[in-house]
Amino acid sequence: MATKQLELHPQVVKFLSSAPKKMLINGEFVSAKSGKTFDTLNPATSEVIVKVCEADKEDIDLAVKAARAAFEGEWKKVTPYKRQQLLMKVADLIEKNAEEFAQLETLDNGKPINESRAVDVPATVEHFRYYAGWATKIHGETLPVSAGNFFTYTLREPIGVVGQIIPWNFPLLMAAWKIAAAIACGNCVVLKPAEQTPLTALRLGELIMEAGFPKGVINICPGFGETAGAALSSHMDVDKVAFTGEYITGRKIIQASAGNLKRVSLELGGKSPNIVFTDGDMEGALRGCIGSVFFNQGQVCCAGTRLFVESKIYDEFINKLSDKVKKIKVGPGLSEESQMGPLVSDEQLKRVTGYLDIGKKEGAKAICGGDRAKDSDLSKGYFVEPTVFANVNNKMRIAQEEIFGPVVSAIPFKDINDAVFQGNETTYGLAAGVWTNDLKKAHAVAKALKAGTVWVNCYNCFDPCTPFGGYKQSGYGREGGIHALELYTQTKSVWINLD
Ligand code: ADP
Repeated sequence: MATKQLELHPQVVKFLSSAPKKMLINGEFVSAKSGKTFDTLNPATSEVIVKVCEADKEDIDLAVKAARAAFEGEWKKVTPYKRQQLLMKVADLIEKNAEEFAQLETLDNGKPINESRAVDVPATVEHFRYYAGWATKIHGETLPVSAGNFFTYTLREPIGVVGQIIPWNFPLLMAAWKIAAAIACGNCVVLKPAEQTPLTALRLGELIMEAGFPKGVINICPGFGETAGAALSSHMDVDKVAFTGEYITGRKIIQASAGNLKRVSLELGGKSPNIVFTDGDMEGALRGCIGSVFFNQGQVCCAGTRLFVESKIYDEFINKLSDKVKKIKVGPGLSEESQMGPLVSDEQLKRVTGYLDIGKKEGAKAICGGDRAKDSDLSKGYFVEPTVFANVNNKMRIAQEEIFGPVVSAIPFKDINDAVFQGNETTYGLAAGVWTNDLKKAHAVAKALKAGTVWVNCYNCFDPCTPFGGYKQSGYGREGGIHALELYTQTKSVWINLD
């Protein structure tokens, strides 16, 4: 029997009724110069939700010009307090329209509505408020120079025009991570949402204008990576590019940025170890493991996809895990009962099912899942079964390559040294989890793991005040907290000769 789904909120219906959705450039919602549009699809059904105007080089150029004009003009006169108020206002407006945003996100991305409601939307609001607070607290220093009779001080200044390229896994939240910090620091922004999920960013654009931002300060241009994304990252008048996505794209961004040596920050993929010791709380670790892998259909850069379990409890743990995973309710995101929705796209479905085949060929055993979802009601969408692979060793492709789906590879380890060695045996270094009740062990492992975040007896915990970013090939730069201010400001030393 087909699952009951939510009736769309009237504001969602209204938003979708004006089509194609236009991009935000210089305070106006405009069509692409080429007149081109693309379809954004509902991953639960593969049907078109709405057409969206497709930004290309010319549109990106207009957006950059608008951002530059704003940066050199009106935006300079806007005080830190006013920037704070503008960001606060955006947060208030999102909160006021929370259900609309949650539904739009679920429709476009596929994630369960209860996750959009409980995580994506409130975390976005919190993020805007957190960085609103910083707008009035960014300051330089006076310096006790010994070189002579000087008054020497520093100014923390914005970088200028910032290009921001975001992925499809947390479309609204990633827009907030990028925009809020950049604006708090006084920059102007051209944001390119992912082509799979442009809708919440465009709705956010409407609220940004409603909040009273001067024209050109924030521009939002959906389009494809190889065209709009490449145009933004190679644009000679963009001072900085901030990117979240795959490491292969990260490399292209670095190359594209070389023309004018623009600053670059990259938050890339991961293959995070989640390490379960015998002395840990097994129930907690089981829950944490499920949350770490299956949240957002596993489409999370810090997902704990390499599950290391101490040999003594390996069989018991993975059997209990598989019993729980089999109970995860897979279904359309717009059904309140669904705990896991579809993957975002057909491309993503092919990638994940490709890895399921690779895992089986490598000799891993899917102790649950391992295929596309079998329910005939789900056949039109991009649904896969939550999968636990046993018999995995850390050299296999399913243990080394980012699958970006609901698939965990369970690997046994002997002792603490082995856990740390195997945990670090990866080109990535975004995050890690550790489950133990031994305090010394917890600190020792947290220190030894080469990862930007280590969660002990928890996983996927986030707060706007904590830095997030990668070691090794998971990227560089830290978003979140005071650390993101480093990404969006530059320091000037001023010397005043007092003689
Ligand atoms: P995924 O493969 O998971 O979609 P990507 O790294 O390709 O991850 O996508 C993340 C973001 O990067 C998206 O907004 C996408 O359009 C953009 N992108 C993809 N290729 C490029 C590129 N060559 N230059 C700039 N941006 C790109």
